[in-house]
Amino acid sequence: MIVDILTIFPEMFESVLNTSILGRARANGLITIETEDIRPYSVSKHKNTDDYPYGGGAGMLMMAQPIADAMKAVCKKRGKMCRDNTEIADDTIQERAENIGKYAKRIYLSPRGVTLTQRLAQELAKEEHLILLCGHYEGVDQRVLDKYIDMEISVGDYVLTGGEMGAMVLVDCIARLVPGVLGCEESPEDESFSSAGLLEYPQYTRPRVFEGMEVPEVLLNGDHKKIAAWRRQESITITARRRPDMLGTAELTDKERKELGL
Ligand code: SAM
Repeated sequence: MIVDILTIFPEMFESVLNTSILGRARANGLITIETEDIRPYSVSKHKNTDDYPYGGGAGMLMMAQPIADAMKAVCKKRGKMCRDNTEIADDTIQERAENIGKYAKRIYLSPRGVTLTQRLAQELAKEEHLILLCGHYEGVDQRVLDKYIDMEISVGDYVLTGGEMGAMVLVDCIARLVPGVLGCEESPEDESFSSAGLLEYPQYTRPRVFEGMEVPEVLLNGDHKKIAAWRRQESITITARRRPDMLGTAELTDKERKELGL
């Protein structure tokens, strides 16, 4: 998988992309994640990337031209076509089918976007090539979004100063779903929000007693069936207590549903 991140602050990504699991996955060639500085694409004399909004109002807006040119350059570098959304609506079904794989999926990080979930991350992890656009200031000229963005994603119902941190969140949660990145293939399956749609059970490591608190006995006896049953029950209990909204779509047996009064 390739992820290109369009930003006016590429330096913000250095430690995030070079540390721990992401750093290792990149070094091992499991995933390519690169930043593309938007500023050099500006045709203005001082390489400006923002300007005042038409109609007035607070703050500055990122201009369309440097973003559009950065987007086109990144597509070209990766051998992809840079789709013009204002024309794609006219494509026939056959043309659309023929073009699958020729385009990157272009995402703008935005508080107006669909909220990021584990399910969405799982879908995006199947893509060959993602391009993430990070906004700044008051946002981005709408015309570049209309023409060159396929979807907008929000990392939550709050407003950040820029899309960079949102892009880091998105890239981190997608990258760990790419096969091989976590080392142990099973680990994303067992986690909160994963296949069963529940929160994770409590976990413990050494020592066996910490400040008078003991590890639950069931985890020490090596009986894997009992351990799995205990973990399942703990997952259900913690989800019911903290996120009852998740139980409606969770994978529960009839017996578990009955016990929860669902
Ligand atoms: N004026 C915009 C609004 O009210 O929707 C907010 C602009 S925000 C200060 C600047 C940039 O931060 C946005 O262009 C976007 O890229 C990013 N951003 C802010 N909040 C975000 C969120 N919840 N999820 C993803 N990106 C966000």
